Amino acid sequence: MDVLSHDILIVGGGGAGLRAGIAIAHAYPSLKTAVISKVYPMRSHTVAAEGGCAAVIKDNDNHDLHAFDTIKGSDFLADQDAVEAFVRDASKEVIQIERWGCPWNREEDGHIAVRWFGGMSQKRTLHAADKTGFHLLHALFQTSLKYDNLKRYDEWFVAGLLVDDGKIGGVLALNIRQGTFHILAAKAVILCTGGVGRIYAFTSNAGIKTGDGAALAYREGAPIKDMEFIQFHPSGLLKNGILITEASRGEGGYLFNKDGKRFMEQYAPSKMELAPRDIVSRSIMEEILAGRGLDGPYGSYVHLDLRHLGEAKIMEKLPMVRELCIDFAGMDPVYEPIPIRPTMHYTMGGVHTDKDGKTPLAGLYAAGEGACVSIHGGNRLGSNSLAEILVFGARAGRTAAEYARQAKPCASERLQSLAKEKMDFIQRRYIRTENGTERVGAILSDLRKTMDEKVGIYRREEGLREGIEAIQRLKERFNRIRLTQQSQVFNTELVGAMEMDNMLEVAHVVALGAFNRKESRGGHARKDYPNRDDAQFLHHSLAYQTPDGPRMEKLPVTITKWQPEERKY
Ligand SMILES: Cc1cc2nc3c(=O)[nH]c(=O)nc-3n(C[C@H](O)[C@H](O)[C@H](O)COP(=O)(O)OP(=O)(O)OC[C@H]3O[C@@H](n4cnc5c(N)ncnc54)[C@H](O)[C@@H]3O)c2cc1C
Repeated sequence: MDVLSHDILIVGGGGAGLRAGIAIAHAYPSLKTAVISKVYPMRSHTVAAEGGCAAVIKDNDNHDLHAFDTIKGSDFLADQDAVEAFVRDASKEVIQIERWGCPWNREEDGHIAVRWFGGMSQKRTLHAADKTGFHLLHALFQTSLKYDNLKRYDEWFVAGLLVDDGKIGGVLALNIRQGTFHILAAKAVILCTGGVGRIYAFTSNAGIKTGDGAALAYREGAPIKDMEFIQFHPSGLLKNGILITEASRGEGGYLFNKDGKRFMEQYAPSKMELAPRDIVSRSIMEEILAGRGLDGPYGSYVHLDLRHLGEAKIMEKLPMVRELCIDFAGMDPVYEPIPIRPTMHYTMGGVHTDKDGKTPLAGLYAAGEGACVSIHGGNRLGSNSLAEILVFGARAGRTAAEYARQAKPCASERLQSLAKEKMDFIQRRYIRTENGTERVGAILSDLRKTMDEKVGIYRREEGLREGIEAIQRLKERFNRIRLTQQSQVFNTELVGAMEMDNMLEVAHVVALGAFNRKESRGGHARKDYPNRDDAQFLHHSLAYQTPDGPRMEKLPVTITKWQPEERKY
């Protein structure tokens, strides 16, 4: 097989991947770096981010406040040393990205504008209307184009990591356009592959969010962390789960039940609609379960009302919300309340790293939503993720570069034999499947149904056990899949099968982690264990792959100066 040689490979062309690439290309011009992405970089999910990016930039704010908000939001599961590094770097990153062209909204006097976001004690969310992700990713993408030493492989799918004796040697990747597999050699690999939202049916996540990075690392013995923590965002558009940004509430939107009552009074009297997402989502579910939701052909829902903000403010601050409502729900929020219910939105867990992006596998790094540093712990605060991909993309880039400068490349015969092993596996498992009987699409819809029903906002022992058993059966079925697409060019059926395999691995860990965690914390709400239990569960969950399924271990939480306390808003 032919070999394309590099010093560092970044898997992922979203915000984290491009930020890592720029950090390396800028400070280490002699290193040969490449960004591999299964879609054109501007189509990464970062482009869909709406509401904004959190950072301390105002005089009335400070890093300790941002850190404490983040830690309290995380239900005290975040590693506090990582959070402290995060809030400090975030203030620098948001200014840097403006210099690269991100057009932050302004106040009347020309200063950068900030808006409220859930769980924040200060206004600290910078934004570019409600198209923040688009502008942020564009600024990164156009900046990345300046560097000749940053190569790109667009529409290439990474199918496996090549690991020689506990050390990264490169990746095996499919050129989707041509249907050919290649060895990409490198001394360091940074996984910036995003989340795993697509294991759920009702989600705000793009179709490409299939947890590939988590599965790639996990298969090679690197642990994945805190996967049971899934964020459900309060406001998914009723029909399809498309996100209506939290900025709608940040700008003053109200939530009403069917009796026209602002029900958040009952659940979070001081923060109301701006309580953290886990709390608002559960409050909506409580209203629906108590029969105080509205009913329609797409199920029960509540209202998000923006009418009192007026058309001018909606057009200035929330134009995309209006566009999405008109295009995807056939209603205009200037005149009508928006029908919403919670939608799967974010993966708090991911590839286990330290605060510099390093994993336990030599030469392997991770950053962004696909990594778990962990700064979000049990629940991420809105607008902390865009800041995270900048901060930890850059940090992982620098750490990987320092490593690659002194590491030796894997011997080429060894790479060839590792790739051959992987290729044989791919042939057997996905390509030569003429005798199979199962369709990937059917397995996928069964997985999503299982996750929505058994591993959703509320979890119970019995449901989780059924969920785990169902996933094990789906894994069995996957061993008998049959692919029919013959063409090599853009064989999306093959890519879809590899993604499906990844989703099954990751979903298994999500469900088992949720089963084992017999407490409620952040986004993980157990009906049978409604309280947080610090005595037994103030720890991260690490999952290692074994032939019999995930093996779970515990990892202590790093606490610097904020002792866990009751979480009230
Ligand atoms: C609708 C929506 C709105 C949001 N709004 C906000 C917001 O306002 N503020 C905020 O802070 N956060 C927001 N978030 C969350 C935030 O946008 C994401 O967490 C963040 O952008 C993730 O960036 P990333 O670089 O880690 O991954 P992504 O942007 O998802 O990029 C992943 C990259 O990995 C590549 N990739 C994956 N697997 C492979 C593979 N096997 N081979 C090759 N390439 C691969 C993909 O091609 C892609 O380039 C929002 C999320 C959604 C879904």
